[in-house]
Amino acid sequence: MSMGRREFLGSAFGVAVATGVRDAKAQTNAKSYSERLETPIVAKYQVVVAGGGPSGVIAAAAAARSGASTLLIERYPFLGGNGTAGLMTCYNGFRNQRPPEALQTVKGVPADYIAELVRLGGIAQDDPYPKSKHDTAKGDLPYCIGFDPEAAKIASLNLLKKEGVTLRLHSWIAGPMLDGSRVTGVVVESKSGRQAITADIVIDATGDGDIAARAGAPFMGPADKGDRMGMSLMYVLGGMTSSVKDSGGIRLGDRVVKWGPGFGGDGLDVENLTRAEIESRLKLWDQVQTLRKGPGKESVYLSQVATGIGIRETRRIQGEYTVTEQDAINGTRFPDCVAISSNPMPSYHGQRFFFAHEGFDIPYRSLVPKKVEGLVLTGRCISCEQGPFQSARSMAPAMAVGHASGCAAALAAKSNIAPRKLDVAALQKLLLSQNAELRLKM
Ligand SMILES: Cc1cc2nc3c(=O)[nH]c(=O)nc-3n(C[C@H](O)[C@H](O)[C@H](O)COP(=O)(O)OP(=O)(O)OC[C@H]3O[C@@H](n4cnc5c(N)ncnc54)[C@H](O)[C@@H]3O)c2cc1C
Repeated sequence: MSMGRREFLGSAFGVAVATGVRDAKAQTNAKSYSERLETPIVAKYQVVVAGGGPSGVIAAAAAARSGASTLLIERYPFLGGNGTAGLMTCYNGFRNQRPPEALQTVKGVPADYIAELVRLGGIAQDDPYPKSKHDTAKGDLPYCIGFDPEAAKIASLNLLKKEGVTLRLHSWIAGPMLDGSRVTGVVVESKSGRQAITADIVIDATGDGDIAARAGAPFMGPADKGDRMGMSLMYVLGGMTSSVKDSGGIRLGDRVVKWGPGFGGDGLDVENLTRAEIESRLKLWDQVQTLRKGPGKESVYLSQVATGIGIRETRRIQGEYTVTEQDAINGTRFPDCVAISSNPMPSYHGQRFFFAHEGFDIPYRSLVPKKVEGLVLTGRCISCEQGPFQSARSMAPAMAVGHASGCAAALAAKSNIAPRKLDVAALQKLLLSQNAELRLKM
């Protein structure tokens, strides 16, 4: 809900210093740019979701469905995160990739999103993994669903519109607003200038844990042992008619989504990111030109390159509980389970590690950051060691976690309770009422 009159904050990010109420017009016109660096509060919501990737979209839909006024803020002009901007067009982990895989571990709001994708005709004909027999159109979801990224953007918009979520695109979240250790909103930069939006609860869905880290929450990762998961620049080859001999990738008609050049180093270091974008883009261009010279490849061309290089691993925020590698391998059950991850660990000491169980529990405590109040974590920055991270970072479990974080934030905001003190049984009951899979009967 937008505010009729505007309050202003002091200029420092992360410091919520309310300095009264002024007239917005006078502020906009009469002062120089540097004088205008005061930050107007332009809106107030019960729940603000920071980031519109797979986890943030589902979190926002779930928060709104649970009755909270909800705003989703995204830096790009479209939704979908690494699934669309990164062209990583297969959602993995709706169930274990191989037996035991009888249990579909991701249902609820994520399944509603997939239903919309199916309705739009946005499911790929092919994916890189062999399919077991499941009827995606009927909500019986296989391990992996390949999809058209443009359809995913529309499905996300349709879902959020249906649930009544307000969007703010083109907006870079510069940091949290803080009252002591409590997050009270976010500060955004956009073409409209620097603005603040207050919230009862903020959900950190930035993937990198930007809000939590800037609010002072301790974090782990990337992996200390030097086995950080690298970055990859995804791309689409066009002109891939049936006569073109090719293996691998995700087929969308005569286009095939491919994994492109990789890059290492820190995905939070802007200089490294700049190098990554330049080097991998130049390399990719050369690779495709060479490929086109091959016999039978005349029709092939570079149809699309991801908006940005895909970053697999950065921060994981320390929460009230950190899911351990042994928890993941043993399938430890937690009484405060709010989501399940059944996705394998794809590069576990160099190998794809498949769980011998249906999936491991993700406890609510791993969504609650240490030291910071008013904030709920979601997506790939939740509190876990690198092993479980490799699994739960996949987009299907990240969506299931989004469902949980959205419901948790709505409950906390509506009952004015700190996320740390939330009644987990009430959260589980709400999730089950929205068809989430928790292996619990209540
Ligand atoms: C190369 C690669 C291959 C992968 N392969 C697969 C695969 O095959 N299957 C699979 O399921 N998963 C795969 N993954 C993992 C998966 O894509 C990510 O872990 C997942 O997208 C994480 O979801 P998220 O919502 O937490 O974060 P993201 O998808 O990263 O979304 C975060 C969103 O927040 C926005 N954002 C971030 N910071 C800010 C800010 N400060 N202000 C405003 N907006 C912000 C971003 O623009 C983005 O839209 C792969 C990842 C990579 C990089």
